[in-house]
Amino acid sequence: MSVTPDPTVVEIVNRGWDPRVRMFRVPNEIDTAVIVTDRYVVFVDTMSSPEQAAAVVESVEPLLADRAPLVINTHADWDHAWGNALFETPASALPAPIIASRETGKRLRSREEHDYLAKRQQQEPALANVRLVPPTIEIPSGCTIDGGDMTIELIPTPGHVGDHVSVWIPEIRLLLAGDAAEHPFPYCGEQSNIDVFLQSLRRLRELRPAIVIPCHGGQSNEGLLIRNMQYFNRLDATIRSAQLQRGLEPGWYDKEGDLGEFIGFPFELAVREQGSDPASITDFYRSSHNKAIRAVAARVAAGEPPLTM
Ligand SMILES: [Zn+2]
Repeated sequence: MSVTPDPTVVEIVNRGWDPRVRMFRVPNEIDTAVIVTDRYVVFVDTMSSPEQAAAVVESVEPLLADRAPLVINTHADWDHAWGNALFETPASALPAPIIASRETGKRLRSREEHDYLAKRQQQEPALANVRLVPPTIEIPSGCTIDGGDMTIELIPTPGHVGDHVSVWIPEIRLLLAGDAAEHPFPYCGEQSNIDVFLQSLRRLRELRPAIVIPCHGGQSNEGLLIRNMQYFNRLDATIRSAQLQRGLEPGWYDKEGDLGEFIGFPFELAVREQGSDPASITDFYRSSHNKAIRAVAARVAAGEPPLTM
């Protein structure tokens, strides 16, 4: 496959992390990384189309002269794995092993994901060249890649989705969290499990990373992991006290409307507690906040014990 690189992809200015990690961004959509080791150029996620992935490859092309390309998918979501076709072996311009969890492989072969792609392609011409290309190397429970000068550890971190892995580089204490952490809020979709999400955040925190870069929200540090955990705990406590004080009717969280206002923990306050100005956060996170409330409330309604850090 040869495609025209998408000009909306930009390289993010390095603000103090090891220069062997290069970061690329589709504004308001995703940040992905390229790890340049002595042996490999490792593409961590492939963005949402081969064109976007091609823009990243173009930026690091000279480094591929004496290093082998490798691809990692943190998970199968569209913004992380829909550029995989650029690396398909042997058909593509830059054939490369694609490493991901077994569950990511399952998802990328599934009827559901194919149907979802077909639906999106009917409306979005930019996705015309997307094909679901599953990993060629599936790892059941993490793995270690020896890059020569740096080690790359894939750590299973389910929660956001069940198939998720994060990428840890111990030599430089840098964590590419994927969607296992996010600013301003961790994202809870239909496939999310909050207890597992929290477990993964704890596991990542135990690494004591110096730098944490998620796929959404920009460069941070260990504080991001802590704030994400606090957010879930805050939601849990707020929902429980609203139920106690106001005796909310069963299934209140399935209603339309602003659940944050309803429980007294509006979006603006939640964003401020995460250390940001609400005006600087896209509206996407309003619905994200609503979804997180719904997920935590369903868990409370099911009689689950209070969340802890
Ligand atoms: Zn994502």
